[in-house]
Amino acid sequence: MFRISQYMREIAEAEQTGRYPIPAPRLRQQPGRNASDAKGSPTQDAAGLASPDGQRRPLEGVGRSPAGVGPVVIWNLIRRCNLTCKHCYALSADHEYAGELSWNEVVTVMDDLKAFRVPVLILSGGEPLMRPDIFDIADRSRAMGFYTGLSTNGTLIDAPMADRIAATGFNYVGISLDGLRETHDKFRRLEGAFDRSLAAVRLLHVRGVKVGLRYTMTALNAHDFAPLLDLMRTEQVDKFYFSHLNYAGRGNIHRGQDAQHLATREALDLLFERAWDAATRGLDEEYVTGNNDADGPYLLQWVQARFPRWADALRERLVAWGGNSSGVNVANIDNLGHVHPDTMWWHHTIGDVRQRPFSQIWSDTSEPLMAGLKAHPRPVEGRCASCRHFVLCGGNTRTRAQQLTGNPWAEDPGCYLTDEEIGALAGSDAGRLALTPFRKIHILRQETDHV
Ligand code: SF4
Repeated sequence: MFRISQYMREIAEAEQTGRYPIPAPRLRQQPGRNASDAKGSPTQDAAGLASPDGQRRPLEGVGRSPAGVGPVVIWNLIRRCNLTCKHCYALSADHEYAGELSWNEVVTVMDDLKAFRVPVLILSGGEPLMRPDIFDIADRSRAMGFYTGLSTNGTLIDAPMADRIAATGFNYVGISLDGLRETHDKFRRLEGAFDRSLAAVRLLHVRGVKVGLRYTMTALNAHDFAPLLDLMRTEQVDKFYFSHLNYAGRGNIHRGQDAQHLATREALDLLFERAWDAATRGLDEEYVTGNNDADGPYLLQWVQARFPRWADALRERLVAWGGNSSGVNVANIDNLGHVHPDTMWWHHTIGDVRQRPFSQIWSDTSEPLMAGLKAHPRPVEGRCASCRHFVLCGGNTRTRAQQLTGNPWAEDPGCYLTDEEIGALAGSDAGRLALTPFRKIHILRQETDHV
């Protein structure tokens, strides 16, 4: 995850004081309620590490955790969902899935995660609120001191459910909105989904729960991006999560509709402007992005153009951030207990918590993909290997490369920076990976692997 607001606040402070804020010494605190209450808490940051001010420290190295700190775990506790969204990476539907982890198994895994010093659990699905024991799990998570997030479509949240969520003390609730009413309902394949999700946002907001909107941009909903940002401000939503499309699950099926590079740049320009506006006005709004680590270098270019005297300092911060964290600082456990490098790698399992503790699976680099993801630098190829921003971006999202070419170390086709911007020879753009439509035979293999 790329925390735009964090950097914008730093630049704004630098402009005010004439000095770039120096990050405080690293603190290895397990985040709890106090940390989460702070605006800009790092703990939802899959790429970041828990520290009270939301910063990742330069000393941490390039996108790597300090020794002894586990990854943020996104945990798909149930695959069932009341919706069948067009870009769902879990390919969920409204029916039971056999073989999901039981309460006792969840407890065993939680104990191992705690011992492994995992700081954050993001409870997800499917629709996690459809799991009967979701609040027991969440209560236990909070009691154990995990920063606990909930990732939901929001459509099941009525007033009693909002009361229950507030009482549990979730540190953060992310609700997906893929556009305004017409667009969102089409994406979610449910008439009324938008109204129900927006109602959930309001119900949680009045109960003091930190809420964020999650938006995945494609060519089909890009036109609603600006109005959604306006909606966020009107509704006083705490956070806006802009997700680039990743080619996993139904997101892979719809990769032909991925936003083109120019549209992506325009969206980021708008997001930067909005985040800068919030930072300079002291507004309590947070803007983050996910699934495209080229956002880091792109922000650097934005700062170089507007505030060149802070560009070097920001670059240092971005080197410390280090870009993509799949398989390093972010992990995924699916509903069956299979472990993946992140949520976009459901077609690639690195272990099963029923067979081996998560802590052992995660530490084992005998598996080639994990060895590559944990390598520093990663063994990327093509334009990523020669890119001058590689140290910032980490080679971006390996899933897209793998889905398009079969080679997880090929260039990321989702990179929207030009050859000139990455320091490559002018004109070599012609040799870039083309976005090919999804072929059904490929996804059938994925589904078989997962189920
Ligand atoms: S070319 Fe690769 S390494 Fe460079 S910014 Fe793009 S995705 Fe990142």
